[in-house]
Amino acid sequence: MAASGGRHFLQIPGPTNVPDRVLRAISAPTVDHRGPEFAALVTELLPALAPVFGTDDPVVIYPSSGTGAWEAALANTMRPGDRVLMYETGHFASLWAQLAGRLGLQVEVIPGDWRHGADPEAISARLAADPAGAIRAVCVVHNETSTGVTSRVPEIRAAIDAAEHPALLLVDTISSLASIDYRHSEWGVDVTVAGSQKGLMLPPGLSFNAISEKALAARRSAGLPLSYWDWLPVLESNVKGAFPYTPATNLLYGLREALRMLEEEGLPAVFARHQRHAAATRAAVRAWGLEVLCADEREHSGSLTAVLLPAGYDADQVRRVILERFDMSLGSGLGRLGSTVFRIGHLGHFNDLSLAGTLSGVQLGLRLAGVPIKPCGVDAALELLGEAHA
Ligand SMILES: *Cc1c(COP(=O)(O)O)cnc(C)c1O
Repeated sequence: MAASGGRHFLQIPGPTNVPDRVLRAISAPTVDHRGPEFAALVTELLPALAPVFGTDDPVVIYPSSGTGAWEAALANTMRPGDRVLMYETGHFASLWAQLAGRLGLQVEVIPGDWRHGADPEAISARLAADPAGAIRAVCVVHNETSTGVTSRVPEIRAAIDAAEHPALLLVDTISSLASIDYRHSEWGVDVTVAGSQKGLMLPPGLSFNAISEKALAARRSAGLPLSYWDWLPVLESNVKGAFPYTPATNLLYGLREALRMLEEEGLPAVFARHQRHAAATRAAVRAWGLEVLCADEREHSGSLTAVLLPAGYDADQVRRVILERFDMSLGSGLGRLGSTVFRIGHLGHFNDLSLAGTLSGVQLGLRLAGVPIKPCGVDAALELLGEAHA
């Protein structure tokens, strides 16, 4: 029997479910992006955005997917042939490294096993072996969306400082911003890369760079070809409530509403909610007798959980059954993980009962697909969710 009626469960780790309030805000009539109404929106929006990044530094907004903000972060700060140090936490870190190579940078990748975050000691050791400071940037994905592993950015900052190395620190927070605690300024990050369609609860289409003073100084001596992604014209126009090209006006209405929702709940509560849902999901996975991909207790993601299937079982088949029977989308295994894992997104506009429904669908689907599990994962998760309300 195929699913019919009710709402689709979009439980991939981005794009995420968009709240009705945000959808209504986006459906406003399109305005003159050079008029006073839009200027007022920008003037209100930029200061409201800063706390989400944990900074008073400027934040540039692009009408693009997150990949554009990856490119912008490098193109604004690097010179042709500059060396960048990347850490292979998983699929997204690998894609960022490929992009850096296509920009003409010398990319050095510290290999990883796709079950751990970026290792601060490995980064520190590599930087210590670079006394001339040839490495111009360290690039790390905060929350690796292909594996459900969150890297410890403050420890990476400390590793760079311990090596007394001048490299910039560039961090991808596309699937962590507004879901997992993150502090651009306090953690000494130079460029924070973000996107709209994950924790920020918007549709795809906006991306962000938060820019430290040191990164802005690097921009002034950067040498890669730069036009559309150039920070400087954006920063200059933003002062007057404008953009140097047509911005995604309606998505910016949505962003204002999403920021209001985050402020109403309070960021600490938002982060705690994500941690609680992630812990309940892990409790379910373990009660089913399955394995969580993330192998370090300090690095479990609050945004998503990647679940390993026993050898011989196909995660794509499980996802197909769940989509057909229960109208729920789950994340696929990316890159070299293939069909050994599926990913449960539990980020953004999400609550206890959405999690209960999600895990129920997963449990039903695993059994229908013939995966040997103990049917007590949902109970384990409910137990944990209940405790939080006791
Ligand atoms: C989704 C995601 C990206 C890619 O963003 P696009 O909007 O698809 O370009 C990059 N990095 C991480 C960590 C992501 O989760």
